[in-house]
Amino acid sequence: MIDQQRLSKEFARLAAINSPPLHESSIASYLAERLQRLGAEIRFDSAATAAGGEVGNLVASFPGNGKQVEPLLFSVHMDTVEPGGQVEPVLRDGVFYSAGDTILGADDKAGIAELIEALEVVNEQDILHGPIEVVVTIAEEIGLVGAKHFDYSMIQARYGYALDTEGVDMMVLQAPGANHIQIEIEGLASHAGMVPERGVSAIQTASLAISQMRLGRIDHETTANIGVIEGGVARNIVPQKASIVGEARSHDPVKLQEQTEHMLSCFEAAADEMTREIDGKRVRPEIHAEIRPDFPSMSVDENAPVVVLARNAAESLGQDLKIRLGGGGSDANIFNGHGIEMIILATGMTGVHTHDESVAVADMVQVTELLVEIIRQA
Ligand SMILES: [Zn+2]
Repeated sequence: MIDQQRLSKEFARLAAINSPPLHESSIASYLAERLQRLGAEIRFDSAATAAGGEVGNLVASFPGNGKQVEPLLFSVHMDTVEPGGQVEPVLRDGVFYSAGDTILGADDKAGIAELIEALEVVNEQDILHGPIEVVVTIAEEIGLVGAKHFDYSMIQARYGYALDTEGVDMMVLQAPGANHIQIEIEGLASHAGMVPERGVSAIQTASLAISQMRLGRIDHETTANIGVIEGGVARNIVPQKASIVGEARSHDPVKLQEQTEHMLSCFEAAADEMTREIDGKRVRPEIHAEIRPDFPSMSVDENAPVVVLARNAAESLGQDLKIRLGGGGSDANIFNGHGIEMIILATGMTGVHTHDESVAVADMVQVTELLVEIIRQA
């Protein structure tokens, strides 16, 4: 049923198109033409302006061919992580790798190729289906930028599948939400050799705070990290400024809030501890905190229609679709935040974001079979 050769060729063609975030015009025009040939009406939203990119998110709408059911959504992203550059995909023993010092870009081009092949098969076999909507987002890899700026009024579907996670036979129903945490500490500068007692060190304040902080894996659904620390100007000056960038993630919004507050309270406690009396004046380091919700958590019920449909489709193919807990944010977090019930399906890719990234053709065939079956049973 699946044309393995056509699928392989499609993947190789996609992988060879350079597509760093916000520079997606080449891949976008290729996809627009390719999806149009499959029978879709093509539109782009205006996310390019908001995101500062070359093109907006692509929406491909396929009308139904006689089946009166709700529209079904598929989402993939057209950008790839750096180092992209000229990717040269090579096929070795049925597995695609990158030949040079680049990623392969199977994230997310394996998903795109599978979706295209599935639509080819649906056409060829005259499979009865309802309306199908495909959203191909831009700039997913630099913070879900396309999905965040997507014009949701352009689609009718209320449920669907993002093709964008590693492995096979996997679906992700839950993924954490995250807070981006930025702290600026303002102490007091002074000569470190002659009058250190006239200074209040911003770096020491930061160190005290971080040493008291719960970080890493907090519990089975919560993590936290301090990822960047900068500060000071010279060896012999008590540093006046330090800035710290970190994050907290949790599947549970309440825990996310608690962990974020805990991290902030460590900075406040450190500022108290660093408070000094200088020239009869009380000097306390100032803490400026900026908390930005990065993406909301997603949690789709195991008995939701979108999950049942995928499970039933897999069962009819003899595939064993397992549930895996997501660890990061993806476009699906944002779609769910907009009231679209979306789960993430594995695309066969492995080792993503590394030079060892690969995807086996046999795995892509298996995922494509699942997509065709989902469309058939929807
Ligand atoms: Zn991806």
